[in-house]
Amino acid sequence: MDQSKQEKEYGYELFPERNTGPKKEKSFVKSLFTSQFKCEIMLKLAMETSPYAKLLLSAMNSSGCKVIRDRHFACEDCDGSVSGGFDVASSQIVLCQNNIHQQSHMNRVVTHELIHAFDHCRAHVDWFNNLRHLACSEIRAANLSGDCSFSSEVSRFNFGMKQHHQECVRDRALRSILAVRKISAEEAQKIVDEVFDSCSNDHAPFGRIPHGSKDAEFAYRDHESRDRYNANL
Ligand SMILES: [Zn+2]
Repeated sequence: MDQSKQEKEYGYELFPERNTGPKKEKSFVKSLFTSQFKCEIMLKLAMETSPYAKLLLSAMNSSGCKVIRDRHFACEDCDGSVSGGFDVASSQIVLCQNNIHQQSHMNRVVTHELIHAFDHCRAHVDWFNNLRHLACSEIRAANLSGDCSFSSEVSRFNFGMKQHHQECVRDRALRSILAVRKISAEEAQKIVDEVFDSCSNDHAPFGRIPHGSKDAEFAYRDHESRDRYNANL
């Protein structure tokens, strides 16, 4: 068997789809559609069932920033292990459909990014020029989203619940800042330290740190009844 015949037999003929471009493209588009479809279903569920997300959506609505699913969310493929992001320019929350596979993960990412969107809505946040603003919103997102509620028993045993939560918030905020800004870890640490107390004590719109779905559900009902009360005034 000569070289070219071998290539022919072990190459193209073993992968018949290589010569049928459109067919391959179709299945690629189909798989893209499938992961996007799954992402959109999980997003819809998060917006309708997560008390964290429901509270944030309601609070933004009351602040004049109505969130529309098709306009303000985008399911996309992302680089690396990123789960999501808030695109300030388009006021859109990006959800990384290639990295979010579970509903609980989707709920946390939607909540985390909605906290950034809430901050963007209620205050004039200078995301690009003022690192304190960015640090503050990352501290609030880590503190209130439940990102730090899934702590290991060992850490709780070592540091106690409250201290562990604070360490986790500090660490997550630091990593989030370093992921989006080219500054040294020391610089980022300094900025996080400067704003940590005031930003970790700002629990809006939750009222207090929700340490689980039950807390978030109470905060949501509280917010709804307050809203109704205000509407009756
Ligand atoms: Zn963030």
